[in-house]
Amino acid sequence: MKAFAHANARDLKQAVTLAEQAHREGQAASFAGGGSDLLALMKERTVAPDVLVSLKTVKGLDRVTTSAGGMDIGGLITLDALSKHPTVRGRYAVLAEAADGVATPQIRNVGTLAGNVCQRPWCWYFRNGFPCFKNGGRTCFSVTGENQFHAIFGGGPSYIVHPSDTAPALVALDAKFRIVGPSGERLVQAADFFVLPRDNAARENILGPEDVLASVQIPAARPGTRSTYHKILDREAWTHAVVSAAIVLEMDRDECRSARIVLGGVAPIPWRLPEVERLLAGQRITPDLAAKASDVAVADARPLEKNAYKIPLTKGVVRRTLLELAGRA
Ligand SMILES: Cc1cc2nc3c(=O)[nH]c(=O)nc-3n(C[C@H](O)[C@H](O)[C@H](O)COP(=O)(O)OP(=O)(O)OC[C@H]3O[C@@H](n4cnc5c(N)ncnc54)[C@H](O)[C@@H]3O)c2cc1C
Repeated sequence: MKAFAHANARDLKQAVTLAEQAHREGQAASFAGGGSDLLALMKERTVAPDVLVSLKTVKGLDRVTTSAGGMDIGGLITLDALSKHPTVRGRYAVLAEAADGVATPQIRNVGTLAGNVCQRPWCWYFRNGFPCFKNGGRTCFSVTGENQFHAIFGGGPSYIVHPSDTAPALVALDAKFRIVGPSGERLVQAADFFVLPRDNAARENILGPEDVLASVQIPAARPGTRSTYHKILDREAWTHAVVSAAIVLEMDRDECRSARIVLGGVAPIPWRLPEVERLLAGQRITPDLAAKASDVAVADARPLEKNAYKIPLTKGVVRRTLLELAGRA
C-alpha cells in the first residue's frame, strides 16, 4: 500500500475543503466511510490516494429522521443499523432487506450506506489491475474473456455490473441523493445518480472528485405500498447478487395501482424495467400476468458468451417476487 495522510473531517464542508486542498497540491484524495472497499483497493494499489478523508468523524451523518414527507437517512449509517431500524423495516422493507442481504455481519457492521452505493465494481479484471476502462485503459477484457458475472443489460464499452444491493432498492423507492460539493448542496434522483459506461466508462456515478454523498431522502410510502428485495447468489453468503430484484408495488386491495421494478447484478447501473411497470399498472397480478411480466423483463437482454444463464434467473426472480408481494396482505 502506498503511504498516505489520514484526515478526520469535522463536518462536510471541511471534508470537501480537505479534498480540494489535496487536489490543488497535485495530490489524489479519497473519501472513506467504513473503508471496507476502499482499503482493499488501496492494498492492491488499484486506488492510491495521497490523502484519505474519513467521514466517520462527521457528527450526525448516521441519523435517520422521519417526517410526514418521508425519511432522511444519513449516508454514514451502517448497513447493520439500517437493516435493523424499525421504521425502515416497517415502511421500506425493500431497503431493510437489501441492507440485510449485503455480504456478512462483519462487513455490515463497518460498511455504510453511502459507501455501499459508491463501492467500485467487483469485476476481476478491474480488481486485478488489468488496464481496462475502469483502470484508465481502452478495453473491457470481459467481452472476450471470463464474463460469467457480467452485464446482460446496458453493457458497452464496459460490461461491469453495479455491485450494490442497496442501490436498486433506493431507485425502486424513488429516493433522492443529497450531494455536498465545492459549489454547495444539490439533490439528485437516485435514478439519475448512476451512469452507464457509454456515458462515462471510467466512473459508475455522477460524483465529482470533491463531492460527498451526504444523505438519502425517501418519499413517504403511499397507502397500500408493499415492497421486497430478492437476491440470488452463487453461494449462500459473503457475496454479491448474481441477479436481484427490488420491487415496490402500490396496491388497491388486489389491484396493482403502480409498480417500480429495479434489477441488480445484471447491468452497470441499477436496471429499471419501465415496460414491466406499465404492464402491471391497473391489473390484478395473476400467475399468468407475472409470467408475462417476466418475459417482458428480459426482452432487451443481450448476454455475453458465458452469462446467458442470467436470463432465466432474472425471469424467475421477477415472477416469484411479484407473486409473493401480490399475495402479501
Ligand atoms: C467479501 C465481501 C463481500 C461483499 N458482498 C457484498 C454484497 O453482497 N452486496 C453489496 O452490496 N456489497 C457487498 N460488498 C461490498 C461492501 O458492501 C462494501 O465494501 C461496503 O458497503 C462499502 O461501504 P464502506 O462504508 O466501507 O465504503 P468505503 O470502503 O469507505 O468506500 C467505498 C467507496 O465509496 C466512496 N465513498 C464512501 N463514502 C462516500 C461518501 N459519503 N461520498 C462519496 N463517496 C464515498 C469511497 O471513496 C470508495 O470509493 C462485499 C464486500 C466484501 C469484501
